Amino acid sequence: MQVSELVSGIAPSPTIAGSTKAKQMQAQGLDVRSFAIGEPDFGTPENIIEAARRAMAEQKTKYTPAAGIPQLRQAVCDAALRDIGVEYSPSQVVVSNGGKHALMNIWRTLLNPGDEVIMFAPYWVSYPEQVRLCGARHVGIVTSGDDDFQPDLDEVRAAITPRTRAILINSPSNPSGAVFTQATMEGLAEIACAHDLAIVSDEIYKHLLYDGRQHLTTASMGEELKNRTIIADGVAKTYSMTGWRIGWLIAPPEFAKAAENLQSQETSNPNSIAQWASVEALLGPQDSVAEMRAAFAARRDYLVPALNEIPGVKCPLPGGAFYVFPDISAHLGRELQGQVVATSVDMELYLIEKALIATVAGGPFGTEGYLRLSFACSMEDLQEGVKRLREALA
Ligand code: GLU
Repeated sequence: MQVSELVSGIAPSPTIAGSTKAKQMQAQGLDVRSFAIGEPDFGTPENIIEAARRAMAEQKTKYTPAAGIPQLRQAVCDAALRDIGVEYSPSQVVVSNGGKHALMNIWRTLLNPGDEVIMFAPYWVSYPEQVRLCGARHVGIVTSGDDDFQPDLDEVRAAITPRTRAILINSPSNPSGAVFTQATMEGLAEIACAHDLAIVSDEIYKHLLYDGRQHLTTASMGEELKNRTIIADGVAKTYSMTGWRIGWLIAPPEFAKAAENLQSQETSNPNSIAQWASVEALLGPQDSVAEMRAAFAARRDYLVPALNEIPGVKCPLPGGAFYVFPDISAHLGRELQGQVVATSVDMELYLIEKALIATVAGGPFGTEGYLRLSFACSMEDLQEGVKRLREALA
């Protein structure tokens, strides 16, 4: 059967592939410790589960408006005002099947074939492929752990062409956990205004910031920047609701209306019960967010020094999210247990096969020489993982 050129050119998601492989090996009885997927290991808070039960009991089980129930669109606005101090109206919100879907809606609504999107490597594996599905292309600007993954603004200016449509910001970042500084944010905002570009701001990790950091977004830098910024967000990472598949975009009204039209033809509304649960997540008690953040911070504080004690591993301290992105380039090119480990993908395969630890190679994130490990797992898994990694690289 024919597969279209567009779709046959898409790579499978390496984060999903890595965690699927780990699960398959675990099902075969192997003691695989998985650091592959970014998925909190906590249960969804009980008040949110109860809201879903209530929605089912009340038969809130039918189609909703394509862009989501008015209560959730309003809750997204209330949360935006509370969290970033920016006022939006519900007509600016489109609720989708997860943050990934919200991003796809953004690209499909924003891009024409041949358009370009500037993004900062390491970037999340799905961004370039999503952009490619629109016939557009990503322009990667490589950043380094040595500079805390902050981009060189002159490189950004030099990358702009007449086809550049947007700059993508993902702070805190998946995969590096890097948080852009105020200076970086202001620099990117100024470039976007000077070149009439949109800023796509993936803020899915905004509640997972450590050491007292405050979330920064170009959306809160005045009216012009608010109107240039399209936010993608969701409940998955903040409320441990990955499987519920609720995310959203927030954009200027005419853009949101166009994205709603797209979604109405493509998927209709996201799950009605999950939408009601998400209203409770956003507006109900927020204590569980602080508790999860504290647990992630403790894991980070164990993991980063432990990794840095392994010879040839250099791990920057992430300011947010639940990933570390250590530089393991000193180990590439070595022969380990009879096999040459030339690339980060070779390293990922070596580690899962020989050490039973699942990681994700840095290459598909746009930066060779690194590995991504998620610390959204138990402390015991982290301790065992570090031990196995040290032995595998010895
Ligand atoms: N964003 C998470 C990750 O990178 C979830 C998996 C995915 O959709 O890629 O692990």
